[in-house]
Amino acid sequence: MTEKRIPHTDLDRLLDRLRGLGAVHAPTRDESGDVILAEVSPGKPVVLDYKNFPLSPKVFLLPQTQTLLRFTNGKPHEPAPVAGNGGPSQGDGRPPNRQAFLFGVRPCDARALLALDEVFLGGDQRDPYYERLRAKTVVIVLACTRPMSSCFCTSVGGGPSDEAGADVLAIGLEADLLLRAITPKGEDLLSSAADLLGDATPPAIEEAQERARKAADQIAPVELDRSAERLRNAYDSPLWGILSQKCLGCGTCSFLCPTCHCFDITDEVRGDVVRRVRTWDCCAYPLFTLHASGHNPRPTPKERWRQRLMHKFRYAVENLGRLFCVGCGRCIRNCPVSLDLRAVFRELGA
Ligand code: SF4
Ligand code: SF4
Repeated sequence: MTEKRIPHTDLDRLLDRLRGLGAVHAPTRDESGDVILAEVSPGKPVVLDYKNFPLSPKVFLLPQTQTLLRFTNGKPHEPAPVAGNGGPSQGDGRPPNRQAFLFGVRPCDARALLALDEVFLGGDQRDPYYERLRAKTVVIVLACTRPMSSCFCTSVGGGPSDEAGADVLAIGLEADLLLRAITPKGEDLLSSAADLLGDATPPAIEEAQERARKAADQIAPVELDRSAERLRNAYDSPLWGILSQKCLGCGTCSFLCPTCHCFDITDEVRGDVVRRVRTWDCCAYPLFTLHASGHNPRPTPKERWRQRLMHKFRYAVENLGRLFCVGCGRCIRNCPVSLDLRAVFRELGA
């Protein structure tokens, strides 16, 4: 495991080096002042003092809308990439062979990529669209120093300096950025910039550990032990009806969640051209489970909200051996009616 450091003042040189190898996406401000993960051209300021991005990096691997195929006069062909970089609004834009560096991903969101890998690459059917983008993506995680009150990564196996899902873990120190290669892709990255990097000294490593400890201490724990068993026993609890009463079914929680991955596939016809499109879908919508017969097995918010939590904290554990929640807190911060999934576990008790 290689550990290096680079002065903050040389970060632009590192990003320039990576730009020679592919597209570099890093934290930068959009027109409204939000810090987002977007392609940064030379000279565009990179922001390191941010909490997390509104959208998780799943949009780079599973775009909100993605053209899978086009048919012209009945003949299928691969979609031609359009100009752009495959960012959140350009699902069709990233040429599958173009390397992408995602710099500044938070540890919770990197851990979520492992859950998506399980879904799209883990079974006997691999998703080629996801696989091509994933193979060309290098994830440089930036450890958190200021967790938010909605964060609970430490209760789901993660932490502010967690390495799961990272190719490189970067930890911000007083004067430097400590860079730790976690995977072969990460080793390659550090090799490609070897002349810009110094060795990580024992004091730098100690400072990184101290910062990680301090950040973890700021995160309030949530009692999630035996979540699968507790939820199995609570399937018919009145709690679901009570807590979900105010759910609007807006879908914000699913769309912002870094592990939610349900989609629809539709064919859009325009003259002689048919576009086969994959689009995010969401279990909070009544139509999501509506059968052609008119029957709906999840007719009210109660069943739909319960399904979302059962999926993440019970079915995923039973079927895939992992929680499908990384404690990023987006669903808590962004729910328009302040529904907080942590309340379920508080109410259920240990
Ligand atoms: S964000 Fe809140 S209101 Fe919207 S679907 Fe999710 S729980 Fe319901
Ligand atoms: S369920 Fe909520 S807290 Fe958990 S990963 Fe999804 S958005 Fe984040």
